[in-house]
Amino acid sequence: MAVNSARGGIDLGGTKIEAVVVGRGSKVLGAARRPTPVEGGPEDVAAQMIGAVNEAAGQAGLEPAALRGVGIGSPGSVDPETGAVSSARNLPGWEGSFPLAEVMSAKLGTPVHVGNDVQVATDGEFALGAGKPYSSLLGVFWGTGVGGGIILGGKPWLGRGSAAEIGHVVVKNGGRRCTCGRRGCMEAYAGRLAMELRARKLVKEGRHTDLFKLMEERGRTRLTSGIWERALDHGDELASELIDEAVDALGAGIASALNLLDVEAVVIGGGLGVRFGQAMVDRIERAMMPHLFNDAHPPAMHVAALGDLGGAIGASLLTKKVD
Ligand SMILES: [Zn+2]
Repeated sequence: MAVNSARGGIDLGGTKIEAVVVGRGSKVLGAARRPTPVEGGPEDVAAQMIGAVNEAAGQAGLEPAALRGVGIGSPGSVDPETGAVSSARNLPGWEGSFPLAEVMSAKLGTPVHVGNDVQVATDGEFALGAGKPYSSLLGVFWGTGVGGGIILGGKPWLGRGSAAEIGHVVVKNGGRRCTCGRRGCMEAYAGRLAMELRARKLVKEGRHTDLFKLMEERGRTRLTSGIWERALDHGDELASELIDEAVDALGAGIASALNLLDVEAVVIGGGLGVRFGQAMVDRIERAMMPHLFNDAHPPAMHVAALGDLGGAIGASLLTKKVD
């Protein structure tokens, strides 16, 4: 394989940084993961990303500078022209604008392109994963928050830059407070962070759950997807209740989006989506059906086929586009 066909991709998440190096046909040649710093600022986050790319490139037997380029899927508001990222609220000290592409490119010695994290994950599923057979698609990424991506007529629909914010579709007027500050958003019921805050509140009110005990046993500081899964497997009542609420919210929110877009398929990914898999996608579909206007012809429902690495693989496609 020619060295210059290898590309890098980084999924910059609120809890972890995932980096891959891919070769021809987007085959993964190396992959590395780092926790996202919880303190400091954009420079610290960039340093962790560089460490992850170095490791992934090392596995592929390459120096980062030998890569054709590196794509980053980032949260916050992304300027695709300059690669600057601002208002990444899930990342430490990242309120203002930071020239992410410029800084990373200087350190890695190869061009760096930045796109919206959820949109690049959707692009990845569309080009290489569960969305391949379709020309229209809704990607729903169920993790710390709930992000979305839209493909219409074979092309990403970005709106004016803020399209597909499916997590902030209102599922209950005047409902629970969302991390975005508004009320009744789907994410306020289904986002992992919102579910954790809810669980803490209910524990304070005297409810019992093993969620936080499991978290401590695993040496974690947050309720990860694996902890939620374990609690459900143990029949934890409060965890089941919160997941039921999440599924209902996802059903209502996704159905509302479908009533507007009528796409051919829905691909569900993200930490929780990938962890729970097809059985949970089937539950979400059942929760969706009562709200679906075109219920005689529901769309195909899939789990994200690229799995945990999908965001990073999708980000690597950013580099391909500019070849
Ligand atoms: Zn919201």
